[in-house]
Amino acid sequence: MKIGIVGSGFVGSTACYAMVIQGIGNEFVLVDIDRKLAEAHAQDILHSTPFTHPTKIRSGDYEDLEGANIVVIAAGVAQKPGETRLQLLERNAQVFEDVVPKIRKNAQDAILLIATNPVDIMTQVATRISGLPPERVIGSGTILDTARFRALLGEHLGVSPHSIHAYVLGEHGDSEVLIWSEARVGGVSVFDFAEGIGRPINEGVKRQIDEGVRFAAYKIIEGKGATYFGIGAGIARIARAILSDERAMLTVSALNDEVEGIHEVALSLPRIVGRQGIVATLPVKLDEEEHKALKRSAEILKQSATQIGY
Ligand code: ADP
Repeated sequence: MKIGIVGSGFVGSTACYAMVIQGIGNEFVLVDIDRKLAEAHAQDILHSTPFTHPTKIRSGDYEDLEGANIVVIAAGVAQKPGETRLQLLERNAQVFEDVVPKIRKNAQDAILLIATNPVDIMTQVATRISGLPPERVIGSGTILDTARFRALLGEHLGVSPHSIHAYVLGEHGDSEVLIWSEARVGGVSVFDFAEGIGRPINEGVKRQIDEGVRFAAYKIIEGKGATYFGIGAGIARIARAILSDERAMLTVSALNDEVEGIHEVALSLPRIVGRQGIVATLPVKLDEEEHKALKRSAEILKQSATQIGY
């Protein structure tokens, strides 16, 4: 299985490394406008393969993406001093206007896996430029936020995060929505479970977990300037679901026909992911507050996408 990575900076190279360690895919091509950087990462990761999985890894050009099953797009530009969020967004859209047609030309059958932030808007941009059906352009979305939510709930409840079913939906960012009303341990509401073990989830605990999920990236960036291990592993998780036709339930971003009355907006919902990309999007039960919050998230994203002409 062949995987292309376009934009081999922190996130792209870490995603590649995460996949190599787990034996996801057996051939990688790293593409970057900075060819030396792509080559350096390809060499470095290749040297890990005697200890991990036998994998072909090289840097290359767009022609080398031919036959790729998945192309991860992690290309983007950094915010310049004084630059507004919108100007940055416009520059990242320009990067996609450059790279997406070249990927489409050379890797016609690939599913696009979008990691560049703001990931929901970039997923919308990539879907439009590529002309692919939305189920074949998947944004990493809230996969990591959902993982953080489960991890923090698991810690509070003393239960493995694997046994917790809870989702973060909407924007991957400030307006994301933690779905408390449907959060469960096995089949039991987390609130009932928490009461039962004498560790009730009161407003204080809720706020603490909410902030731990919503603002995690800010804290990491404050400490080390970027985030890449978590998202690299998240991308590997999505790639595994695709390549092994796992039909796993993941919260990932894609262009939706309509969410809470807002049309044509990309954001995360719980989806089944397999070989064809997004196989299904699950209907979610939300309480009134969550409906409102998801609508607000959709409105914010729709406005940004419209401002840059997508
Ligand atoms: P992140 O932390 O999001 O990975 P980086 O700056 O480390 O950010 O990575 C983004 C990568 O995208 C850089 O290596 C940059 O060279 C690359 N890039 C930017 N524009 C383009 C482009 N037009 N084509 C290919 N790669 C690009």
